[in-house]
Amino acid sequence: MTKWVYTFGSGQAEGSALDGERLGGKGANLAEMCNLGLPVPPGLTIIADACSAYYKNERQIAEELKVQVRAGIERIEEITGRRFGAGDRPLLLSVRSGARVSMPGMMDTVLNLGLNDETVQALGHDAGDARFAWDSYRRFIQMYADVVMRLDHEVFEEILEDEKARLGYEFDTEMTASEWQHVVSLYKSVIEEELGLEFPQDPEVQLWGAVGAVFASWMSARAVTYRQLHNIPEGWGTAINIQAMVFGNHGNSSATGVAFTRNPSTGDKSLYGEFLVNAQGEDVVAGIRTPQSITEEGRISSGSERPSMEKLMPDAFKELSRICSELETHYRDMQDIEFTIERGKLWMLQTRSGKRSTRAAMKIAVDMVDEKVITEEEAVLRIEPSSLDQLLHPTIDPRVAREVIGSGLPASPGAATGEIVFTAEEAVTASDEGRKVILLRVETSPEDIHGMHAAEGILTTRGGMTSHAAVVARGMGIPCVVGAGSMRIDARNERLIGVGVTLKKGDVITIDGSAGQVLKGDVQMVQPELSGDFGRIMQWADRARRMTVRTNADTPADARAARSFGAEGIGLCRTEHMFFEGDRIHLMREMILAEDETGRRTALDRLLPVQRHDFTSLFNVMHGLPVTIRLLDPPLHEFLPKTDEEIADVAAAMGMDAAALRLRVDALHEFNPMLGHRGCRLAISYPEIVEMQARAIFEAAVAAAHETGAAVVPEIMVPLVGLRSELDYVKERIDAIAGDVMAEAGMRIDYLVGTMIELPRAALRAHIIAEAAEFFSFGTNDLTQTTFGISRDDASAFIPTYQRKGIIEHDPFISLDFDGVGELIRIAAERGRRTRNDMKLGICGEHGGDPASIHFCEEIGLDYVSCSPFRVPIARLAAAQAVITNGASIGGHSKDGRDRKPSAS
Ligand code: PEP
Ligand code: MG
Repeated sequence: MTKWVYTFGSGQAEGSALDGERLGGKGANLAEMCNLGLPVPPGLTIIADACSAYYKNERQIAEELKVQVRAGIERIEEITGRRFGAGDRPLLLSVRSGARVSMPGMMDTVLNLGLNDETVQALGHDAGDARFAWDSYRRFIQMYADVVMRLDHEVFEEILEDEKARLGYEFDTEMTASEWQHVVSLYKSVIEEELGLEFPQDPEVQLWGAVGAVFASWMSARAVTYRQLHNIPEGWGTAINIQAMVFGNHGNSSATGVAFTRNPSTGDKSLYGEFLVNAQGEDVVAGIRTPQSITEEGRISSGSERPSMEKLMPDAFKELSRICSELETHYRDMQDIEFTIERGKLWMLQTRSGKRSTRAAMKIAVDMVDEKVITEEEAVLRIEPSSLDQLLHPTIDPRVAREVIGSGLPASPGAATGEIVFTAEEAVTASDEGRKVILLRVETSPEDIHGMHAAEGILTTRGGMTSHAAVVARGMGIPCVVGAGSMRIDARNERLIGVGVTLKKGDVITIDGSAGQVLKGDVQMVQPELSGDFGRIMQWADRARRMTVRTNADTPADARAARSFGAEGIGLCRTEHMFFEGDRIHLMREMILAEDETGRRTALDRLLPVQRHDFTSLFNVMHGLPVTIRLLDPPLHEFLPKTDEEIADVAAAMGMDAAALRLRVDALHEFNPMLGHRGCRLAISYPEIVEMQARAIFEAAVAAAHETGAAVVPEIMVPLVGLRSELDYVKERIDAIAGDVMAEAGMRIDYLVGTMIELPRAALRAHIIAEAAEFFSFGTNDLTQTTFGISRDDASAFIPTYQRKGIIEHDPFISLDFDGVGELIRIAAERGRRTRNDMKLGICGEHGGDPASIHFCEEIGLDYVSCSPFRVPIARLAAAQAVITNGASIGGHSKDGRDRKPSAS
């Protein structure tokens, strides 16, 4: 029989932190804390495999599960001396989800389970506190009805608000036992009215209802969205933890809270957290009441008058601090902890590696290296490469005056500007239209997740640093200010009332997620400083890395930005992009539309100085680093005039008849331009284009060598080669021009001619193509397109459906398809090197900036990856992680010692 249930409690657990896959993160860490002898309420974990069994409705498993859960509960009864659903001392349970990775707020929880009309009385007697018992019962009904019976919790909130208004109370804490009892009867009647069902009194029925609902919440819409956003496989399922309740709502010596062992926003090494007196955990996370700070330091820095836990409950605080440092030392990482204090006694409900802003992640990793807790390599592994994006976000220019219209807590760093919108749907619509928005909510809930993702920034008027908005925004790297209590959101009238202003939907604000401020209008930003902790992590990464990181840059500005991010060369300069600016497009059009070679040459002669100037600037910026320039690639129609107006303009400029021009444009039309007259096919049809480009490159190399004193070794790349004879034809033209320019300049120019590998035929015939090509660069955008036979321009119409339906896991245009496209790359690399063993191999498709794809490139021994400038730091880090996780040696050169330059950072 499968072991479906693992128990823990009283200093002993059947599982441990190593069992995360089976027990889920929460279950594994509860077991671990128990083994460490920490105060954990006894409980049991139903393993995640039971989740899929639940979905398959497997009866036999259900029977086994019932027996094992029963035995587990008996153990909890023994430890606590309480009985589930009966007796003088009733045992109440919490039922919580716990997947392999944390999915904050995405799945359901039921607390206080086991209460009914009888046990509520016993609980009241036993606790000597009837008010507490009835408060717990009404909480249970509300939660159970919401999660299991699917009755919206707002119904209950309305009842409670009406009762409080009737009694003239402001706070829940003013309610007496009999008043809660009355609320319970109102809750039960509304369930009967709305659902025609009685609230279940049998604790066994309650238990299995809750277990079913928690399993079912794995497939809730918000959990599905979250998994899609975070690439979490559906097959994992969730485990369930059933634990003896401990009560934070047991009077003023009770409390509940969350703590981080270090500050999750700044990374500072000080305990950081929030708690609520006389409350249950959900109150903190839901942001219903604004919590108090755990430490005095935190209270002072937030300017709060309300006492800290350090002052209010000094003994529990001391124990919590001690346990926090014990846990951090044990796990060797910053922990995010949930706890409850029941009548002065501290209980640990959860620990896990804490989510943190990227800035905090950097600081914590660097500090832990300095504290000798982790190694430099571990520090490099602790940073999620794609999260570096957050650091590259602009912040508000410190020199500009700030017109502050509100302030709250600095929940997620960086600054963002946008139009204000009041719903998640509006945020999505506006962002689809290309508008930048700031999403305003009183507080967010998991239903808002798509809107949060679409927004530039998030502002809430309620909730603390651990509210849903704060946690989720930090994870997404979106600037966020929460709990801006000085502002009011009037969602019905789509207005935001700030200090001295009222703004309406569409008005622009800026939020500063690092300072917790809301500013009016658009505010000047500055680019981030990439030094300090960032610099140290990158230095360690560069030491570990084997592959070089280049950039895809078409302009000197791109190249400059990329170098400041540490690019060690240009892996792809798409020359066509140079032709779209200013007047150049006219010259290009004249060239394309010319009737004959003479006409083309006339236009090309005028393009030559322009190209030469561009290349010289690029070489100057790169100062001797390798630069790969690709010859003209796209189908010519991309440059052509389309509308009648454009045709008339071009015809006038060329002194041509508009109708004749229209005919010429029509003649150039292609049914399938991406598979048509493009790439080296253009060079073969119109060799004069190659000649102009090659001349511009070589003349620029001469000029730049004179200007900078650094020798330039241009790498000229021929696109879309499928046949060796294509490459031979183009290379011959390039070599001839090189000879001419060298003779004219009276100097030797070293250069390489290579090709992109972006067609399956080229990959398969790589050994033959390598006889002519001195380097290969994998153009994985086209290679993915041609391998799958999926148009890269039309893929977005159906790839998301494929992902949703589980046909593919990742979009192959974003993350490399290792099995198919990857196999072709592997073949081409092997065959190419068989012919030319010193052949330089790189990748320049979008995948060159994708961490998973970079791992693959490392695995097959490419020499470099090339990506857009802002992804250069991501690629540097991912390339280092690839080496470290492959267990290869650190700090060496590439296998053949090629293409390895010191980092530019
Ligand atoms: C590629 O195909 O991967 C590539 C880099 O070229 P482009 O995207 O310009 O077609
Ligand atoms: Mg391409």
